[in-house]
Amino acid sequence: MKRYLLIPFLMAAPLMTSAAESDKDRWNLKDLYASQKDWDADEVKLKKQLQEFGGCKGQLGESVARFKTCLDLNADLQKRYARLASYASQMHDEDTGANAGLELSQRADVLGTQLAEATSFVSPEILSLGAPKVSAFLKQDKALAIYRHPLDDILRMKPHTLDTEGENLIANFGLATEAAQSVYSILANADMPWPTVTLSNGETPRLDQSAYTKYRAVANREDRKKVFDAFWGKWKEFERTFGVSFYEQMKRDTAYTKVRKYPDTITRALDANNVPVAVYNTLIEQANANLPTLHRYFKLRAKMLGVQEMRYYDIYPPLVKSNLKYPIDVGTQLTLDSAKPLGAEYVKTMAEGFKNRWMDTYPRPRKRSGAYMNGAAYDVHPFVLMNYNDDYESVSTLAHEWGHAMHSVLANKTQPFVTADYPIFTAEIASTTNEVLLLDHMLKVAKSDDERLLYLGSALENMRGTFFRQAMFADFEREVHARVDRGESLTGESLTKLYGEILKRYHGDAQGVVKIDDLYAVEWAYIPHFYRHFYVFQYATSIAAGSMFADSILKREPGAVERYLNVLKAGGSAYPYELVKSAGVDLATPAPYKAVVARMNSIMDQIEAIQARRK
Ligand SMILES: [Zn+2]
Repeated sequence: MKRYLLIPFLMAAPLMTSAAESDKDRWNLKDLYASQKDWDADEVKLKKQLQEFGGCKGQLGESVARFKTCLDLNADLQKRYARLASYASQMHDEDTGANAGLELSQRADVLGTQLAEATSFVSPEILSLGAPKVSAFLKQDKALAIYRHPLDDILRMKPHTLDTEGENLIANFGLATEAAQSVYSILANADMPWPTVTLSNGETPRLDQSAYTKYRAVANREDRKKVFDAFWGKWKEFERTFGVSFYEQMKRDTAYTKVRKYPDTITRALDANNVPVAVYNTLIEQANANLPTLHRYFKLRAKMLGVQEMRYYDIYPPLVKSNLKYPIDVGTQLTLDSAKPLGAEYVKTMAEGFKNRWMDTYPRPRKRSGAYMNGAAYDVHPFVLMNYNDDYESVSTLAHEWGHAMHSVLANKTQPFVTADYPIFTAEIASTTNEVLLLDHMLKVAKSDDERLLYLGSALENMRGTFFRQAMFADFEREVHARVDRGESLTGESLTKLYGEILKRYHGDAQGVVKIDDLYAVEWAYIPHFYRHFYVFQYATSIAAGSMFADSILKREPGAVERYLNVLKAGGSAYPYELVKSAGVDLATPAPYKAVVARMNSIMDQIEAIQARRK
């Protein structure tokens, strides 16, 4: 089950709120199941369906009628499982310490495994039927039309599929190729002997991952340096081990690439969503061509922080300090007002969601941290988990997550279940577009330059983190995977060297924009996303597409809103690159990347205008 998360490195540690909490601030899981009994009953039903579905094995090609019965049954049991799993995982996330939620989510996990096993024959069997037979079935029964795209998505894998024996071999060995990632995860999260530092105020935090994200942003510069030196010094001690684990992971990726008959790993990874490699290459080319804009931001940041020579440990403290409070009623109203350019219907539906308890709003002890949207329960409505703490970042996260929620509402309403779910390539467009709309609205209602600076600074930092930083990661991934594909070996030391070169280039080290200490170039070892190869580039392409869509919507270009909403309504009914392209945003061309860079420059122009006014 997919859930769309905020990029973890942007997430602030949750703070406990003092706001009095009531039911209206909690999501209503009764919309999924009125009681645990109903969940149990649905579980029994799913198990029966799984058994019944076993009878479809080897029979898909028997007749068009049998083909349809089996596809319909598969869709129904997938839908039922999504609802069961949503309820279980959300109940667990509400209170990760409660036994009931834990037990239910474990039961859902077991169901998920059973479902995967029971349906594992579908794709290979459809592949073996072949395109001519499938398309003959589609002609015979018009009701099969809803399956046209999902079937095409399976059939296009033909050149990358082995015979039964080969596929069995891959499936069996697949279970034994997760070691690198598991070792990484245990070491990076649990077993690292985290260092402790003494800060200028006498505090002595133990710098684990979450403490690092908190303390790297402290106001005192000496403290930030101490935090960086201690944290990265610890990673450096394990550079060799992390190097081995990442290299093993990449060798595994290359092995799959060869077995699946792809020219290289990047092509294989992007082919999962039928995204052309030209998209990836254009992103990196454009990010590099526009580094002067990133450097302009760092120079502006140095000025705003009052720092002579920017160092890597100066990139996290907030540009503008603010005590402004945005209680949830204000936050939701701002989110609704900012979405007005998307039309009355869009705003009305979102307002119903706010009113009807689709969201779990505040932080609580033992509640899952961060923020996400879960739109998997097709017949119900999406749910949003927040850890809202009344600051502006919370409002921005609110707009982001509800952008995802509205994407699910529109896709679920427009599409049949089988084509409603959408991939990350389009998902983050829905959320970033709403962030752009929010900024536009905030600048209109801001009452002071201080307030304006807060919004502009937050947007700017978001764009650095979501566009340039993710493009930098993507740049690194392309380089290291290409080397492993070519048969070169990589060690922790050589990975640090390669990463350091890219890090310095993006931060303008040679031009004196941001000085990068060599020690900090071990940062690659810390990025968990590198174990999900060629994934993070989609954050950068999404903010680019979102910027371009929002620009055309705010400029009131004729048809812009409709084109954009059609992308959301299309859900997963077409290949994501084609879908976005058909709405006028071609991510294999420079235009969307130019739009995000232009937006960054325009925000900096506005900040500088405010600074000039104040002189
Ligand atoms: Zn998101």
